[in-house]
Amino acid sequence: MSKIEQVSCTVARVPLDKATAFSTRMVHDRHYLLVKVRTDDGVEGLGFCYVGSAAGRLGQIAVEELLGPIVVGKDPLTVEKIWKDMYQESLLQGRMGTVMRALSAIDVAIWDRNARAAGMPLWQYLGGSADKSVPAYASGGYYLDGKTPAMLGEEVAGYVAKGFKAVKIKVGRLDPAGEEKRIAAAREAIGEDILLMLDANNAWEDLPTALEYMRRYEPYDPYWIEEPFSPDDIDNHARLAARTPVTVATGEIEYGRWRHKELLEKGGAGILQTDALVCGGISEFRRIAALAAGYGVKICPHWFHDLHVHLVASSSNGQFVEFFLDDQVLNFRRLVGRQLEFDKGNLKLPDAPGIGFDFDEQAVAKYGSGWVSVGHNSARAA
Ligand SMILES: [Mg+2]
Repeated sequence: MSKIEQVSCTVARVPLDKATAFSTRMVHDRHYLLVKVRTDDGVEGLGFCYVGSAAGRLGQIAVEELLGPIVVGKDPLTVEKIWKDMYQESLLQGRMGTVMRALSAIDVAIWDRNARAAGMPLWQYLGGSADKSVPAYASGGYYLDGKTPAMLGEEVAGYVAKGFKAVKIKVGRLDPAGEEKRIAAAREAIGEDILLMLDANNAWEDLPTALEYMRRYEPYDPYWIEEPFSPDDIDNHARLAARTPVTVATGEIEYGRWRHKELLEKGGAGILQTDALVCGGISEFRRIAALAAGYGVKICPHWFHDLHVHLVASSSNGQFVEFFLDDQVLNFRRLVGRQLEFDKGNLKLPDAPGIGFDFDEQAVAKYGSGWVSVGHNSARAA
């Protein structure tokens, strides 16, 4: 039996090249928590998560002082037990938010370590099929200063020219007429046969406002409307789902199987966008995906395509990976040593053991706060 001898973490603060707007906020920086879990046989797994646009140190504290000491000394194959111990021991500080994200990063690192030790790519270790690619949609269509509807149309047409059969744009920042011009331009640019997804990023606070926008969007045949309301307003998601022919998709900042169960029970999500690096790692993602399969709901996980390609490939109800073609928004790409390849709108599954990439240590040194460790031979031994 091998055992976990060290957990290390750092926070990488990566500025966006251009300040980028969503419906209700502007983002300048992204803080990523990076984690490594090393076992006494020398095998190392990696995990990561997005902590937010500030205060990434909250994630580091959670690993260093709360979760790391629980993990050190454990058998990495007992991943279910380790998850339960981390969850239970952080019950007062955790369950949602940054601590659950840090727990997710550690859980992913343990699964990655185990897949590497088995010599298998993660998707295969998780029971994925041998199909060598998974469907993806091109995610973009953000608001930038001076970006016109025509420029938005050019952007999404560019994704289609690269072979993508589905594209997503942001909505909800402008007034209804301004939004309609953007969606009309996007639909015109991609034609009738390409799926067009809309992401509102929690834009609306009430049903009448959401419906006012949806009546403008519906003629352009959107495939889904994403996160119309705050994640805590599950009832309004369900009310909107009953009032529009467009599928309501949500779940990207939802935590744990119990909240997902409530979302599904109330009919608040026709498609789930659960993020394994938010919800509780690969362990909890698998429980949620199985739960959703029981409701006949498919999973299209939220960003971090480098991990989610493995989970869509190994979930019976995995549908699409959200894929970012450049590092303007998902600037985590700058920390990754090897990028996923795509062809005709599908992502190629990595062949390398584990998650299929290592951190680019030069980039981590440039953006990171320096690795700190818990456990054997560590800078701050537990
Ligand atoms: Mg989204």
